[in-house]
Amino acid sequence: MRRLFANGCVATMDDADTEHERGWVLVDGTEIVAVGGGEEPRRYQGDERVDLHGAVVTPGLVNTHHHLYQTLTRARAQQADLFTWLRELYPVWAGIDAEAEYAAARTGLAELALSGCSTVFDHHYVFPRGRDGIIEAEVQAARELGLRLVASRGSMDLGVTDGGLPPDELVEEIDAVLAETERLHAALHEAGAGARIQIAVAPCSPFSVTGRLMEESAALARRLGLTLHTHLAETVEEESYCRQLYGCTPVEYLDRLGWLDGDVWCAHCVHLSEGEVARFAETGTGVAHCPTSNLRLGAGVAPARQLVDAGVRVGLGVDGSASNERGDLFAEVKQALLVARGRGGSKAMTAREALRLATRGGAAVLRRDDIGSLEPGRQADLAIWRTDGLELGGADDLVAGLVLSGPHRVDRLVVGGEDVVRGGALTRADETAIARAHRAEARRFAA
Ligand code: ZN
Repeated sequence: MRRLFANGCVATMDDADTEHERGWVLVDGTEIVAVGGGEEPRRYQGDERVDLHGAVVTPGLVNTHHHLYQTLTRARAQQADLFTWLRELYPVWAGIDAEAEYAAARTGLAELALSGCSTVFDHHYVFPRGRDGIIEAEVQAARELGLRLVASRGSMDLGVTDGGLPPDELVEEIDAVLAETERLHAALHEAGAGARIQIAVAPCSPFSVTGRLMEESAALARRLGLTLHTHLAETVEEESYCRQLYGCTPVEYLDRLGWLDGDVWCAHCVHLSEGEVARFAETGTGVAHCPTSNLRLGAGVAPARQLVDAGVRVGLGVDGSASNERGDLFAEVKQALLVARGRGGSKAMTAREALRLATRGGAAVLRRDDIGSLEPGRQADLAIWRTDGLELGGADDLVAGLVLSGPHRVDRLVVGGEDVVRGGALTRADETAIARAHRAEARRFAA
């Protein structure tokens, strides 16, 4: 079926940053076939015309770092820095199982969908012994709600008795991690354009994973053609930990392990030297910028402007809901703009550059050239934002107005040609029922 989304303000996020003030997007099945401004293309019998009444159309947003299970444990360790926060939460997270993960993923994915996000990367690394089906549970939640999911088989194998941060009961054996990753790849991973479910390899961090598991994870990912991810350079405490244990900075440590490359992206990267920014650019390593989470934990502000200027692939992440209670990716667009300006002054980032991080930037970080912009041949992933509400009154520049007055509930979210949100409500699930089921599961994790 062909659908013409017409009479909207279309921000394509293509290479030339083309915008059509009175524009349209023509979708055939799962793909975009034409985009333009002015006169609408000829319609054929059976084509549907959707009048956007002046709404803004952007590509569906791409979230490059999350921990969906953390919706179960919000507003804990409220004044803690990263290591204190982790030490308080690890024992609580040890209670995770497939049922809890399913409820958590339904909630987290629903929130993201309603914030205009069509593709989600989830970094899951807590696998208590004997609890199966955790990744399958989040995959099921994504399929039901209609979002694209890149799920990672994360890992931790450096427990507290070996000098790591996590408790010993939460760490796994290397061989078991690798075998499980390979099994999930065979069972779930889709390759190529339009993929709905993908698997990434994502050992947790330098302070919870051994060098050997980092190296073997990279070897496995490269053998299977999967992307690689980890947390990096998030806090000053992490940097002193690495200096003490490995005699170098977190980035130097990862470089030494052969990680920095075009198939890798790292979350946070708050504490990078100028030389390390250049090293990211030179190797093609990407970054998931998570401004709200970094502020919430008092970790600092990543040098997003410098990374973008150096040519580094940069996307945005909401991060888990235990360190950013609001899983709203559009809120991160505005936050990225604000922190860049807080760091570098009023010219440090434009509204369109911030929006680009959440769309083209995120797609590049996940190594997806089929999403992230509105162009012929790309997937029909569209976020449609109303412009007739209170907060956009008086804004002539609708795209900038949208970013600066964010966050917003998306009016319509289309993923691969299918409506996932319509009229600001999920089309395939009931929001109230999701929240109710989630609260019942979350009670098991109560303090
Ligand atoms: Zn994280």
